[in-house]
Amino acid sequence: MLVTIQQIEDQLASTQCEECGYKGCRPYAEAIFSNEADINLCRPGGKRVIANLSKLLGKEPLAPAKPKEAPLIAWVDPARCIGCTLCIQTCPTDAIVGRSKRMHSIITDECSGCRLCIPPCPVDCIEMKDASEAFPKAGDDKWEEERSKKISEWIHIKKERKQQRRSS
Ligand code: SF4
Ligand code: SF4
Ligand code: SF4
Repeated sequence: MLVTIQQIEDQLASTQCEECGYKGCRPYAEAIFSNEADINLCRPGGKRVIANLSKLLGKEPLAPAKPKEAPLIAWVDPARCIGCTLCIQTCPTDAIVGRSKRMHSIITDECSGCRLCIPPCPVDCIEMKDASEAFPKAGDDKWEEERSKKISEWIHIKKERKQQRRSS
C-alpha cells in the first residue's frame, strides 16, 4: 500500500513546534516521505510517534533523537499582559489561564512549547524560556515521556471535539 504524506503527518504530534528542525509538521512529514529525514525527530511525540511511523512505513523503530536545545515553555510577563485572552484562544493544550482584563499565566506542566500563542499577543508579552529553569528535570526521559503522553491525550481530545462539531 502506498503511504501518503497526509498519513505520515497524521502520526505526528501536531503542535507545530519545529523541534524536529522543520518548519512544522507538514514539512517534516514531506521530508520523511522523500526519505530525507529519519522517523525519530518529533520530540513532543516521543516513542509513541516513532512506533506508529515505524509501523506505517515498515522502518526500524529508532531511539528518539537527542534534542539540540533544551525544551522551551512559554512565560507571560505579568507587567505587560493586558488580559485580552487572545493567547487562550490559540493554545492547543489549554495551558493558559486567565480571565478577560486579568493577567494571564501559563500552566507550565501543560505547555508543549509550540509557540502558537506568541503571534496573536498584541503587546508581545509572551516569551519562550528554558523549561529547565522551571523544571530541573525538564528534558530527562521521564519528563519527555510525560510531555508526550499529555500531547497525545490532547490530540485525542482535539479529534473528538472536531468529530462532535461535524456531527452537530
Ligand atoms: S517536532 Fe513534531 S510536533 Fe513539532 S513541528 Fe516537528 S513534527 Fe510537528
Ligand atoms: S502556552 Fe503557548 S507555547 Fe505553550 S502550549 Fe500553549 S500556545 Fe503552545
Ligand atoms: S495575548 Fe498577551 S496580552 Fe493578551 S492575555 Fe495573552 S499574554 Fe496577555
